[in-house]
Amino acid sequence: MTSAHIGRLIDAAAATIRDHAEELSALDRAIGDGDHGINMSRGFEAIVDQRAALAELPLDAALQKAGMTLVMKVGGASGPLYGSLLMAMGKAGEDASAVDRLSEGVDAVRKRGKSAPGEKTMLDVLVPLLDALRAGPADPIAAARQAADAGLEATRAMQATKGRASFLGERSVGHLDPGARSSALLVHAVCDVLEGRS
Ligand code: ADP
Ligand code: MG
Repeated sequence: MTSAHIGRLIDAAAATIRDHAEELSALDRAIGDGDHGINMSRGFEAIVDQRAALAELPLDAALQKAGMTLVMKVGGASGPLYGSLLMAMGKAGEDASAVDRLSEGVDAVRKRGKSAPGEKTMLDVLVPLLDALRAGPADPIAAARQAADAGLEATRAMQATKGRASFLGERSVGHLDPGARSSALLVHAVCDVLEGRS
C-alpha cells in the first residue's frame, strides 16, 4: 500500500459518500432521523481535509488517524462505529493480511455497537463481506462486491433491533438500512481502487 493508494482510497470513499449523501439521508428519514448522509459527508470531508498528511503515513497509522477523525467529527452513531472499524483495522499489525485487518475492524464494530448480524445494521454488510473473503474466493473483488450487495438487500426484510430504527419495531421492516447502504458504497469504492478503476 503506497501513499498514492491511500490518497486514491480517500478520494474514492469521499466521492461515493458525497454522490450518495441525499440517498443515505432519505433512507435514514424512513427509519431513523434523516441525518446519515450528512453525518457520513461531514466525516469523510474531514478525512479529505487531512489527505496529504494521511497519505504520508504508513497504512496502520493512516487508518487509525482517519478512524479518530470519524469518531470526533461525526455526531451520529455511525461515527464511533465506522471510527472503531478503521482504528481497529489500523491496529491489526503491519504484517496483517487485508482479511485479518477487516476481521479486527468488524470485531470492533460488534463490540462498540453491542450488535450482531441480523439486526439491520452495517454489520449485515460487513460480516457477509468478511465471511465471503475468508472463504478464499477465486475472484475476491467480485466476491466482495456480491457479498456487500446481497448483505444490503437482505436488510430490507429485517426488523431493526439496534440503533434508532429499533424504535420503529415492525415498521422498520421493508426498508434498506442506511448504514448497510453506506457500507456497501464504501466496499464498492475500495474495490474500484483495487481494480485500478479510480
Ligand atoms: P444516528 O442513528 O445516531 O442518527 P446515523 O444515522 O449516522 O446515526 O447512522 C445510523 C446507522 O448506524 C444505522 O443505519 C446502522 O447501520 C448503524 N448503527 C446504529 N446503531 C448500531 C449498532 N448498535 N451496531 C451497528 N450499527 C449500528
Ligand atoms: Mg441518523
